[in-house]
Amino acid sequence: MNVILLGPPGAGKGTQAQRLAQSYGVPKISTGDILREAAAQNGDLGRQVRERIDRGNLVSDEVVIEIVKERLARQDASKGFILDGFPRTVTQAEALETMTEGRGALIVLHIVVPVDVLVGRLNSRRICSVCGANADPSTPDATRCGVCGGVLVQRADDDETVVRNRLEVYDARTRPLVEFYRTSPTFFEIDGNQRPALVAEAIQTAIGQPAPTGADRGLA
Ligand code: AMP
Repeated sequence: MNVILLGPPGAGKGTQAQRLAQSYGVPKISTGDILREAAAQNGDLGRQVRERIDRGNLVSDEVVIEIVKERLARQDASKGFILDGFPRTVTQAEALETMTEGRGALIVLHIVVPVDVLVGRLNSRRICSVCGANADPSTPDATRCGVCGGVLVQRADDDETVVRNRLEVYDARTRPLVEFYRTSPTFFEIDGNQRPALVAEAIQTAIGQPAPTGADRGLA
């Protein structure tokens, strides 16, 4: 199960990646999460990454490709992976083709959401300041994380000006990937403008592979 989630910021990639990773017993690899951790470190790399993220610009292909190459080589990714936020440029997509040669088909899920809905979602999105989980959007007044009880905050790059830039960067750098993958027999367009449970159903229908049971994965 090798999956790429493609779509603009706020499309719900993280939520669906989490769900797919749990169902299929393969790791969710979010380059945004990995880079936010790197940004929290002292030193030159941490500062460079922080500056890019805070302005809504992409981190260099070189750095991100190296991170993903190292992560995919780990044992837990040997049976597959769910990539959230990578690739984001044609150069990254080409590097991924090389990295995953011989691993079987890449399933590409392009999650489509109208831009006004994205802006609304990102403006109201809250994340946990402790564990980083997304807050449940159905409880907009909550101030504490449902997972660990940490205080909910706005992600610095969900600020309105930065959001506008992230969407522009998406259009310029990442949207071309839709054409890169569109002719693949394992490319699927998913309507992301519906409740997460319905998006998940649409993904399941598109993939057409039933999630393995716990017993299949040796978890029973
Ligand atoms: P995300 O959590 O996926 O919205 O990513 C947050 C930020 O991390 C992005 O705005 C970029 O600055 C950086 N980032 C995440 N993934 C990538 C990537 N594949 N290539 C370059 N920068 C990335």
